[in-house]
Amino acid sequence: MEIAEKVHLLIIGSGPAGYTAAIYAARANMNPVLYQGIQPGGQLTITTEVENYPGFPDGVQGPEMMVHFEKQAKRMGADIRYGLATKVDFSSQPYKVQIDEEKWIEADAVIISTGASAKWLNIPSEQRLNGFGVSACAVCDGFFFRNKEVAIVGAGDTAAEEALYLSKLCTTVHMIVRRDEMRASKVMQERVKNTPNIKIYWNSETDEILGEDRVSGVRIRNNKTNETQEVPISGFFVAIGHTPNSDIFKGFIDMDETGYIKTIAGTSKTNLEGVFAAGDVQDKIYRQAVTAAGSGCMAALDAERYLAAKGHI
Ligand code: NDP
Repeated sequence: MEIAEKVHLLIIGSGPAGYTAAIYAARANMNPVLYQGIQPGGQLTITTEVENYPGFPDGVQGPEMMVHFEKQAKRMGADIRYGLATKVDFSSQPYKVQIDEEKWIEADAVIISTGASAKWLNIPSEQRLNGFGVSACAVCDGFFFRNKEVAIVGAGDTAAEEALYLSKLCTTVHMIVRRDEMRASKVMQERVKNTPNIKIYWNSETDEILGEDRVSGVRIRNNKTNETQEVPISGFFVAIGHTPNSDIFKGFIDMDETGYIKTIAGTSKTNLEGVFAAGDVQDKIYRQAVTAAGSGCMAALDAERYLAAKGHI
């Protein structure tokens, strides 16, 4: 393996956690290098308004907020790069991270802030029609289905939020809920239930998404009665939660059974000294922009102490 570059601190991922780590690390003269991954700005770039991030009394658009995060990190001197970490070798120090399947970088310390990605139902018709009417992001793709009928599967806050968003664009939103209740917060549930053009199918699952080249309908199965019905739709949205983006660290970093990186309570430390984790990749409970940013700050401070103790900075 040929090493192209050696850095003190490598930050992988560009959501609130990664950028906040970069801001703190740059201000502490750690010369951080941050690789943005395939979705620069992370999940907030595919949301609309963020109303609960402190400091924005009138709310802020998610994509706009992430532009601010990036600008702030750059202004502090962080080296922000477009590129994807594709492999790691953490078997010895300095740690090695491969970028875009070609270039290897060595780092004295690494902050993993790779976030989480949308889950899919994993039925063949969903894969076949992905991009042809099947989407995991109503905010990104809802526009294409204005004045049409769509379906959405899921019953958490994301599904509720996306169903409400779609209800403003589409004629009818068919919401497929697998139990007889929703997981979403009470206030979101009430909003969904009080929206006349959202039709909820309780105890229901997606049997099949219909359509040859494009989505034309969905076959919904009631899991109590086993009865099925076909509903004509043009768009099918999946909003059933997320999986942490931690695959490349398997075998090196301790994780729970669902792939969330384990950190030592109250810190950003992983099982490997000098490797820290922040944001949604290590948090399946809070998953908020502000908690991700907070944990990014913790990771930078932990990294600073580590690098100083080892005499690297
Ligand atoms: P959640 O894990 O909270 O919810 C996932 C939903 O999808 C559940 O209703 C679940 O059903 C359903 N589901 C999972 N797998 C399947 C499947 N294979 N088929 C059908 N349905 C399935 O994920 P969210 O993305 O909604 O939310 C994640 C976190 O982010 C939560 O803590 C949420 O509160 C928060 N959030 C907050 C927002 C806000 O405050 N504005 C906005 C968006 C998210 P079941 O209930 O039966 O398990």
